[in-house]
Amino acid sequence: MAFTMRSVVRIVPTHSVMEGGGFKVRRPYSMSSLLSPFLLLDEMGPNITEPGEAVGAPWHPHRGFETVTYLLDGRMKHEDSAGNKGELNPGDVQWMTAGRGIIHSELPHDEFQKTGGRTHGFQIWVNLPSEHKMMPPRYQEIPATESPTIEKDGVWARVIAGECLGVSSSIDTVIPITLIHVKMEDGAKLNQQIESQLNSMIYVFSGKITVFNEARVKEYPQVLGLGVNQQVRDGELALLSEGHEVEFHSNGASELLILAGPELNEPISRYGPFVMNTREEIEQAFEDYRNGTFAN
Ligand code: MN
Repeated sequence: MAFTMRSVVRIVPTHSVMEGGGFKVRRPYSMSSLLSPFLLLDEMGPNITEPGEAVGAPWHPHRGFETVTYLLDGRMKHEDSAGNKGELNPGDVQWMTAGRGIIHSELPHDEFQKTGGRTHGFQIWVNLPSEHKMMPPRYQEIPATESPTIEKDGVWARVIAGECLGVSSSIDTVIPITLIHVKMEDGAKLNQQIESQLNSMIYVFSGKITVFNEARVKEYPQVLGLGVNQQVRDGELALLSEGHEVEFHSNGASELLILAGPELNEPISRYGPFVMNTREEIEQAFEDYRNGTFAN
């Protein structure tokens, strides 16, 4: 394929839903069928909670995929069936590979519960290919102080997975994943390379950006990529076309996630916290959970 720029092929709006013990998330409509390998993209909050009123997701199982939690504001604590315990503070990332099974709780930190305050963050579910669905569970925790960031020409980026502006993440992913948090100043521009065989999308959660579209500019030089289809606003997920690179410009200050990963091309059988390939495997997950062999 000749070198091409990626452009927006579809805008998916978000809606607010209640998750876990009753906290508000912004979630794109019809996410699961749209962009392999991502199964879920939840923006948690931003919510302001009063002291004693913060809620999380108490003990629950997962099998067959990974959950990535990225906290921007607030403080969480987690615990799991394998005896792992830890906390998440602003800027921290937890990359949890559930594999064949984990039972965990994700709750507000005790200190945060006392004070209340602002909660904001993301939970992203990354599917695993069938050959890795039953892999042993593992955690990768990247505290804010150790996560690679870069600042250049009005663009700040935290590279959770993949590469941006010459900076690479330290995370080990099962399949090649790009996950980057970008903040842009008004008028800033970013050219992000994305391997051409990967699916990709961007999620804007503050402000507005314009995806530069070569073909469109040739067609309408006067609009310089400001065509209506190429603007992505706060709370919109934009699925990108094939290509080698995406170029975007910030209209005012903006904030977004860039995501990319391979098309898995496998059947998805999904029920609540289990994501497998077949219905039989989902039934097996329930059976294992009931008989206590799930996370042994
Ligand atoms: Mn969970």
